[in-house]
Amino acid sequence: MKYCKRCLQPDTRPGIIFDDRQICYACLYEEEKKKIDWKKREEELQIIVGEAKMQAKKNGILYDCVIGVSGGKDSTFQAVYAKEKLGLHPLLVNCVPDEITEIGNHNINNLSKLGFDIIRINPDPNIAKHLARRSFYEYGNIVKASEYCLWASSYIIADKFNIPLIIQGENAALTLGAAASQNTSGDAFSVVDLNTLNGCNASDWVDSTVEEKELFFYQFPDINVLKEKGIRAIFLQYYTKEWSQVGNADFSIARGLWGRCTEDLHDIGRYRRFTALDSDLQIVNQMIKYLKFGFGFATDEACYDIREGRLSREDAIWLIKEYDGRCGEQYIQMACDYLDISKEEFWHVLDGYVNTNLFEKDEKGWWRPKFEVGVDFGE
Ligand SMILES: [Zn+2]
Repeated sequence: MKYCKRCLQPDTRPGIIFDDRQICYACLYEEEKKKIDWKKREEELQIIVGEAKMQAKKNGILYDCVIGVSGGKDSTFQAVYAKEKLGLHPLLVNCVPDEITEIGNHNINNLSKLGFDIIRINPDPNIAKHLARRSFYEYGNIVKASEYCLWASSYIIADKFNIPLIIQGENAALTLGAAASQNTSGDAFSVVDLNTLNGCNASDWVDSTVEEKELFFYQFPDINVLKEKGIRAIFLQYYTKEWSQVGNADFSIARGLWGRCTEDLHDIGRYRRFTALDSDLQIVNQMIKYLKFGFGFATDEACYDIREGRLSREDAIWLIKEYDGRCGEQYIQMACDYLDISKEEFWHVLDGYVNTNLFEKDEKGWWRPKFEVGVDFGE
C-alpha cells in the first residue's frame, strides 16, 4: 500500500490515479482548481439554468430541476443554493434508507421547512433487507444494493415528470481522485453511463425471491431517452467555487442541519460529525471498507482537510490512527439484527473479505493493521 505524498490517499482505493511523483489525482485537481476560471463556469451554469427554466415552462411544470436529497450537508447546500442563488424551483427526492435515523428524519423535515416540495420514496423494506443481506454476503458491502436506488430515484422522477435538469452534488472522480473509472467533467450523465455500462442494472439483483419488475426504483431510466427529452444532469460542485466539505456543513448547520453530536467519535470511525447522518449501516460499512482496503472514513475526511489546508499531514496521521476503521459495538449489533445474522456469522463472513496483506489477527481474534498510517507498506 502506497500513500499519496501530499495527502494520505492510499493506492488501494479502487480506480485511484497517482502521477509519477506519487501524488494522487484529487491533490492534482486541488492544484488545478486554483487555475479554474470560476466566473466562466458560473456563466456556463447560468446558461444551463436558463435553459432548464425555459424548458420547464414549455413542459408546463413548475419544477425546473430535481435534486436527490438525504437531508445531509451536501444535499441541503444543493437545494438551498439552487433555490436561492440560482432562482430554480427544485423538486426534492428523498430515497428513505431502511432504518433511517432520528437525525436523518429531522434533517429531511428541516429541508421541508426551508420551503421545498419533497417526494419520499420508501422502497419495500422486505426487498431492501433481502438485497442488503445479498450485498453483504456477495460483496462484503451492506449498502451496495441500496445505492442503486439512491442514485436512480432522482433520474426516475425527472423522467416521469419531464423535469429538464438533475442537479447532483459532488463528482467523486474529482474529490476522491478515482478518475481512472470516471469522467471528471460537470456532466453527470457520463457517470451514470459508466455505471450502467459497468453492469449497475437492477437485473443484477434478480433472483428466486425478487423479480425485475419489483426493482423499479433500483433501475436507471435509459439515458438516451432522457437526452431525447432534453433532460440533462450536472454536478453542482463542478460549477461552484463555494463547494467544500466543511463549507457545506457550516452552510447547512446555519440552516438547521443536525449532526451526530452526542456520539463518541471512536464509535463512528470519523472525526467530524456531519456525514452518514441518515443511516447507521454506513458506519458499519466504513469499518468493512477499512478492513478491505486499509482505509476508512477518517482517511477520507483527513484527505479533504489536508488538501483544503485545514490540517497538516502529521496531525492527520494522528486522527486517522485514532479513529479510522473504528465502529461501536452497538452499530455492529444493529447491523447484525438488521441482516438477521449472529455476530459470529457477521465476523465469519467478513473474515473472508479482510485484506490479509494488510491485516493480521491478534491473539484475541481482532484484526490488526500490519501497516503504519502514512508509511508505504509492501512492494
Ligand atoms: Zn493526495
